[in-house]
Amino acid sequence: MTMQRSTPTAESARAALPAAAAWIDGDWYLDTTGEVHTHIDPATGVELGTWTLPSVSDLDRAVSSTARAQRAWIELSPRTRRDLLFALGQQVDQHADTLASLVTLEMGMPYRASRAAARAAADWFKHYAGYADKIEGTVPSVLRDGEGLDYTRCAPYGVVGAIIPWNGPVIALALKVAPALAAGNGVVLKPSELAPFSSLYFASLVGRAGLPAGLVNVIPGGPEVGAALCNHLDIALVSFTGGGAAGQKVSEAAARRHIPTVLELGGKSASIMFADADIATAARMAAVLGTAQNSGQGCFLPTRLLVERSVYPGVVESIIATVENLRLGDPFDPAVAMGPVVNQAARERILSLIVAARERGDGRLVAGGNCPGGELSSGSYIHPTVFVDVHPDSPLAQNEVFGPVLSVIPFDTEEEAISIANNTRFGLAGYVWTRDLGRAHRVAAALEAGYVSVNSMAALPPEAPFGGWKDSGRGVEGGREGLGEFLRTKNVHVMW
Ligand code: NAD
Repeated sequence: MTMQRSTPTAESARAALPAAAAWIDGDWYLDTTGEVHTHIDPATGVELGTWTLPSVSDLDRAVSSTARAQRAWIELSPRTRRDLLFALGQQVDQHADTLASLVTLEMGMPYRASRAAARAAADWFKHYAGYADKIEGTVPSVLRDGEGLDYTRCAPYGVVGAIIPWNGPVIALALKVAPALAAGNGVVLKPSELAPFSSLYFASLVGRAGLPAGLVNVIPGGPEVGAALCNHLDIALVSFTGGGAAGQKVSEAAARRHIPTVLELGGKSASIMFADADIATAARMAAVLGTAQNSGQGCFLPTRLLVERSVYPGVVESIIATVENLRLGDPFDPAVAMGPVVNQAARERILSLIVAARERGDGRLVAGGNCPGGELSSGSYIHPTVFVDVHPDSPLAQNEVFGPVLSVIPFDTEEEAISIANNTRFGLAGYVWTRDLGRAHRVAAALEAGYVSVNSMAALPPEAPFGGWKDSGRGVEGGREGLGEFLRTKNVHVMW
């Protein structure tokens, strides 16, 4: 049985599917020579169409076009670049519905969430537009007055390679493309072949906003295209978001050429719930964010929930009740809380991790662990899944599942909670739920993570930096520090 649907947003998303699987030099590039990709709608299992992806040999054309456009971009005055980047933010805002519906169609994120992400992406462009005319150097105190002057210039790298995953493509691209362009670079963007359409649509907005043709070229493809991008001699920096294994290969390729990287990698973030917290809110958020939010396919989601033992039984009960009432289904339906995972292969991978965790006794399965039947059986759905009494050292507690699977772990003291939270090779995010202000700051300081959120969910505001520690990556996205990743410094020494 296949799910039937005909909501206006689903129809408009199908109408916006791209004419070709690459965007080069301000237009669809029809001569791609890579693999033929058949895209399956994860919500229904229905084929959306076939596209010939770009290959490694199409890459040269994309990089040389971006190099040309970057030279034109940097010739413009900073104020003009500011205005054009702001206009791009307005384009993203005006087309947020289409961008969001393409994300929902290509990878299954509920439309409410993909629309909020598209609006957030517009904010990233508008925010970074304001930096385009505020890039400043310094005057180091090297020479005596009257003798001369040292000053620094902040310069763009040139052509930047941006590689993004499929789990939230429009916001992921904004986090890279907005600061890269504000700093004066051009970008060759490689989205995952599992979610290429929204990125291609975004590229069409770059031209509409009046930026030089080719300044952002988009070449969707698999790992081999990503690897070729990292190895391309005209790529001066790679900003990568994805898993640790691919991140390592990106690092190795970049190290061979001595080019810098920004790496935003995986996570296994802990949420620590103390007994004095607003338990009703914290438990509900833990249940939703640990399972339903983007079907658990988010790098910074709190997938380990640490609960103080005195409130543990009540929290577990409340989490089970919440997940059992979460509505699973068509991600275009506004009443749906949770959509499918990205594809059938991901569904099988996640189910096999659940089976393995049960067989090893990593914890006790108390909700989900299986797939819905009926009309949802043709899509890649999994019930929200909760394991309790999870051993902190077990593979379930240590490894990223990247699916709707929450691990709940009890603790007795603050020190124990911090120790369990830090007992992982990841260091992306941490969450603290408490009404005790002193404890909140103490725990926030002790967590080995690049981002800590107290009594709330992580947000990705463009004003603040976000990035991983330990195996979760290096470098940041957001704020002035995020801009700095895309600039290099030159010192000019002048004697008179
Ligand atoms: P992935 O690592 O398989 O792929 C990410 C991107 O890298 C894709 O575009 C892919 O084609 C490309 N790629 C793969 N191998 C490559 C190589 N050798 N060289 C260059 N590029 C290569 O990850 P995924 O399955 O697309 O995404 C899920 C992962 O991304 C999870 O681990 C998740 O935690 C992580 N992620 C991290 C953040 C963050 O901000 N830290 C955000 C979102 C997702």
